[in-house]
Amino acid sequence: MSGRHTLMLIKPNAVKNGYAQKIFLEVAEAGFKILAVKKLKLSKEEAEAFYYVHNGKPFFDSLVEFMTSGAIYAAVIEKDNAVADWRKLMGATDPAKAEEGTIRKKYAESMQHNAVHGSDSDENALNEIFFYFSAREIVNAGGKLMQLHEISNK
Ligand code: ADP
Ligand code: MG
Repeated sequence: MSGRHTLMLIKPNAVKNGYAQKIFLEVAEAGFKILAVKKLKLSKEEAEAFYYVHNGKPFFDSLVEFMTSGAIYAAVIEKDNAVADWRKLMGATDPAKAEEGTIRKKYAESMQHNAVHGSDSDENALNEIFFYFSAREIVNAGGKLMQLHEISNK
């Protein structure tokens, strides 16, 4: 059984363009519970750490620059099959290839400025959630930490 939680980010371009509210509304309408949210600005070191897996790729430096260019929203969202369902709702990384109706199709400007982030596996979701949120914040938001941890104990 797949996990019920994933991490979503609303990237700086979408925040600057005023799309954050619309995106959260679409997430809620798709059946996700928005468990915990924060607005923050990443430092260079934080963005490099979050995107470490892409270190060395040609787009890494510009990705870090973009992700530190303005405020972002980070949110823990909850639903059965959260990782796959959020990736489906986001659409393909390249908005030119994203399906009609997806968030990236509607709000992305380019492959890099693609409006939103989503974790790509249950294991990464757990790591990414705890990159942005502490256990205390998740519990205070009404989150069930056991549900989050179950996926790492499979
Ligand atoms: P996703 O966000 O769909 O999981 P990746 O994990 O492959 O996609 O890439 C992380 C982010 O890096 C993308 O969302 C996008 O902002 C940026 N990115 C990926 N590939 C490219 C590329 N070829 N050129 C520019 N930016 C890219
Ligand atoms: Mg990815």
